[in-house]
Amino acid sequence: MKCLLCQQFFLPSWSLSNVWTRQTVCLPCKISFVKRGECTDCGKPGHSLCWDCERWRKQGHSLQTAPLFLYDAHAKAFLKRYKFLGDTALINVFKEDLKKVKVKQDLIVPIPLSQERLSDRRFNQAEGIARLMRGRIKLCLARSDGPAQSGRSRQERLERVNPFTVISSIEGKTILLVDDVYTTGATLHQAALRLREAGAKEISAVTLFRSV
Ligand SMILES: [Zn+2]
Ligand SMILES: [Zn+2]
Repeated sequence: MKCLLCQQFFLPSWSLSNVWTRQTVCLPCKISFVKRGECTDCGKPGHSLCWDCERWRKQGHSLQTAPLFLYDAHAKAFLKRYKFLGDTALINVFKEDLKKVKVKQDLIVPIPLSQERLSDRRFNQAEGIARLMRGRIKLCLARSDGPAQSGRSRQERLERVNPFTVISSIEGKTILLVDDVYTTGATLHQAALRLREAGAKEISAVTLFRSV
């Protein structure tokens, strides 16, 4: 089998937990991704509740987000190929991990891209992640964006006007938001706020990575 990341051939290892999913990456590539850290609300390493999340909670916006891995150099190299160079098949690197995410919520809602960004990039990286999870996906959010988030300061990100609108009924539903990277949490919190206003019963989130 050929590793999706390093292109080397490898012998897949079989166990009861992975017998139904074909391995897509070799072990050295796989273990280079570092598991999430201690923060219960966002997975940031260091404290059981990080400074960021403590502040979100004080503002009444707690949102439990479970990232799978840390956004280190290895993760950045992955995301560059997947998201910015458009190698969409590369998401299968995380096929096993995403299938194992326990989805108890009624709906999985990927964070959308704005129309402009979607026509540039041709695919939504968050939707690609969501499609590998076991659960019902609903594209119930729309987004209208200004310039890209990267390059903005933390303060600019947080003070930005909420770009999301809810475009179909989600009243009374429990929702699992999905995004690629959790940076300040602003994007996920803004989406959660709109969903709550539209009557969602309970919201939590999963991201592939947590910035460090
Ligand atoms: Zn490899
Ligand atoms: Zn946190």
